[in-house]
Amino acid sequence: MGNSQRFDTVLKNGRVVDPTNQIDGQFDVGIRLGKIATVVETIPPESADDIIDVSNQIVMPGHIDTHAHLSSPFQGSVDRAFGHAMLVESGTTTALDLAGDPTMMSEGMIKRGAGLNVASLMGLVPHQTVSEDDPRPSVLRDAISEVKKRGGFGVKMLGGYHPFTPEASADVVKEANEQLAWVAFHVGTKDSGSDMIGLREVPEITGKGRLHVAHINSYTRGMIDQPHEEVQEALGMIERMRSHWITEAYLAQINGTNGKCDENGDVIYNVMQNCLKARGYPTNEDGVRASLRDGYGSALVERGGRVIRVTGQEAVDIWESVATDASLSYPVNPPTSAFSLTTAKYDDGTFRVNAISTDGGSLPRNVAIERTMALVAFGALSMDEAVTKLSYTPSRMMGLLNKGHFFEGADADVTIVNPGTGKASMSLVAGELIMLNGRAIGRGGTWLVLEEGRQAAAAIGLPYEVIDLENSRLYENWN
Ligand SMILES: [Zn+2]
Repeated sequence: MGNSQRFDTVLKNGRVVDPTNQIDGQFDVGIRLGKIATVVETIPPESADDIIDVSNQIVMPGHIDTHAHLSSPFQGSVDRAFGHAMLVESGTTTALDLAGDPTMMSEGMIKRGAGLNVASLMGLVPHQTVSEDDPRPSVLRDAISEVKKRGGFGVKMLGGYHPFTPEASADVVKEANEQLAWVAFHVGTKDSGSDMIGLREVPEITGKGRLHVAHINSYTRGMIDQPHEEVQEALGMIERMRSHWITEAYLAQINGTNGKCDENGDVIYNVMQNCLKARGYPTNEDGVRASLRDGYGSALVERGGRVIRVTGQEAVDIWESVATDASLSYPVNPPTSAFSLTTAKYDDGTFRVNAISTDGGSLPRNVAIERTMALVAFGALSMDEAVTKLSYTPSRMMGLLNKGHFFEGADADVTIVNPGTGKASMSLVAGELIMLNGRAIGRGGTWLVLEEGRQAAAAIGLPYEVIDLENSRLYENWN
């Protein structure tokens, strides 16, 4: 390249880490028309319209979060669209909304978007988003094709909350696979739960089906065996299903759940029951109330455009004010499980769990980047490996061929991390700053849709990009 080249923006003097191109060192990144134009030792200042000094900062391809929450299939007590700004403020540039509803996500993006690229899944909920409790394959086929037309990537089963029968769960995977739609599974059926028993059931019922097994760490909380035994079993299962599953794990201790109780005062959802059982609370209204009052659990509430956690009597009041149908959170994820799952590799050096996610967005636990940097500081991951799990592998999972690396012509999605704090200090999407010093400054966003969703995206007027899941890891070597 010659010095005659002009750039819209140059990121100057950062430590650029791009393992795909074997780059780790001090370089300048030249951006033109929203794309990476060059990564070289020095770009003359006069050839740039805008220079951003990133000295002593880490410059990496933007974090792609393969498990976030930006919409809900329900009218929840907290608007999940607040998650756009929350994710952006933690340094994420692209997210898979898991799930959700694509129409609600896109409306939320118009209202509260902060510049993210977002693909959305629809949560499959009996009697709400699918007509039946135990839907026939044809009902599922129609529901999946309909959601693609509304701009969704596909569907997610919420087995820990709204389980189907094992047969219907298997049909969801089969029908999604047949039309190359995304299918994610928070495990659990009417015969199992959101734990190792639920995970063991998945290969039995879905066979060689392709699926995204959501937040693998959530099933290794020590509900059935000791956490370290469950982790080893999960890792063995992942190896056996290596050509059929994609997985992610998150690094936050707190989970996200719902405190809804039935007319007898009993906790409805399996995940919520497990949270209470883990500390010996009864799985009813008294147990929920005591767990919040004691400071074990917390309630989520919106303050100043962000979702935060509150506990004690304030949390009880929030939970009661919405007739128990409140978003709650419990510290049920053992850090040892998250650590082992995040760092485990095959003999060839590739990671067993594909990506590090947040399971955050509107849940206030968007710690993927800072906790990953803590693992780097600890020596458990190299910087290259951190970028691979935060950005490159997630880009392959979703078939986002233009992201996850700094090849010439790649999308100029960049996360800039302060190595001292481990937190993102700045980020760009398509060459535009969307976050600066921990504050979201972006607007709107780019909707990632499949070909079938092109019209829906065009009609709503958001910038959009059509993605082909044939390029995704989910459907690698699929025939
Ligand atoms: Zn989730």
